[in-house]
Amino acid sequence: MFCPECGATDVEMIDGICKNCFLKKFQLMEIPENISVTICKHCNAKLEEGKWKDECIPEEEIIYRALERNIKISDLAKNEEIELKIDQMRGTIAECYVEAVATVLGEEVVETHTPDVKLNYSVCPDCSKRNAGYYEAVIQLRADDRELKEEEMEKAEEIIHRTLEKQFKKDKLAYIPQVAKLKEGNDYYIGSLKTAKKVVEHLKEEFGGTTKESPRLISEDKSTGKGLYRIWIALRLPKFVKEDFVKYNSGIYQINDVDGNRIQVINLENQDKIALKWREYDSIEKIEHLEGIHHIKISKFTSDS
Ligand SMILES: [Zn+2]
Ligand SMILES: [Zn+2]
Repeated sequence: MFCPECGATDVEMIDGICKNCFLKKFQLMEIPENISVTICKHCNAKLEEGKWKDECIPEEEIIYRALERNIKISDLAKNEEIELKIDQMRGTIAECYVEAVATVLGEEVVETHTPDVKLNYSVCPDCSKRNAGYYEAVIQLRADDRELKEEEMEKAEEIIHRTLEKQFKKDKLAYIPQVAKLKEGNDYYIGSLKTAKKVVEHLKEEFGGTTKESPRLISEDKSTGKGLYRIWIALRLPKFVKEDFVKYNSGIYQINDVDGNRIQVINLENQDKIALKWREYDSIEKIEHLEGIHHIKISKFTSDS
């Protein structure tokens, strides 16, 4: 056997040529010279195969991932190690350097490439919705049969902002394009229904109360024929607050604590604390004027006033 390329004899042959000649022609990796990536200029989401994904990752990371995704290594490579570097940014083009080292047929092979990654800036659908003030849900914060208290609104807003911040990591529509302060309460517009529901869940954990959802048809998706709904979620805080007096099952109680799980009251006859379920809410009656009730000793529970 002899190599038809270099004439060497008595050598190991691969694909009809000697190993030396084979390795000379061998390509360790394939990578396009020009790679382009479309990213959102607001959130860095990346357009890949028609889908926007990976929001909130830095540009450098996007470039490295684009390189990685485009590298193909030969099946003959063993123990390959690949080094990626961004040499410099020229406008929106990253001039990169890729070096691969691997063992091929027992020999060490080093190969370098200098591909360009071009960043095309666009706006993803979530960001364009956000820019347009789009919202899927409105949380109507109200109080049952009374006005909202200033401290309830403050606490609610703290919970809303905390929840939005947390949700934003996985839901880019976790934003609040508008707040309407009305006489009967506050309306919080929320980008996504999913996040609005999360917010209501957290508000309810804190305040208790009852919720009601009313969907309103806003338009029809022409391609699917499906209706597009916007959901109004009314959260009604209880008619009573801590220290209010209430009547329940003909007994008189004072509200001790309220949260999403229960309404804790103190029995004024014996000072026992009991927890009432929210489904009993409608049978709890608020007593506006305690003077009207004469069979209990007021001195027992009023403070120093
Ligand atoms: Zn040869
Ligand atoms: Zn975006």
